[in-house]
Amino acid sequence: MGRFKKAKKTKAPATVLFTSEKNDEGKRQNCVYAQCHLSGYSVGPIWGHKDASVKRALATLTEECDCPARFHQNKEQQGMRRA
Ligand SMILES: [Zn+2]
Repeated sequence: MGRFKKAKKTKAPATVLFTSEKNDEGKRQNCVYAQCHLSGYSVGPIWGHKDASVKRALATLTEECDCPARFHQNKEQQGMRRA
């Protein structure tokens, strides 16, 4: 016990994917997905390509991801950002 368990990583790298999906009304909309590099867990779609959407995606990832990180960091971006 002790040393290893205490050495929690506070930040985990994540990939943010900028893409688009059809919403409930069948309209194509910009959205983002975020995926944790440690666990491979991903969340999305989070609608929009703006900073607020990226933040929300990373916050949602932190809530749902199983890795010990307290934050997820936008380390890598994929796709085309239209914002
Ligand atoms: Zn994670």
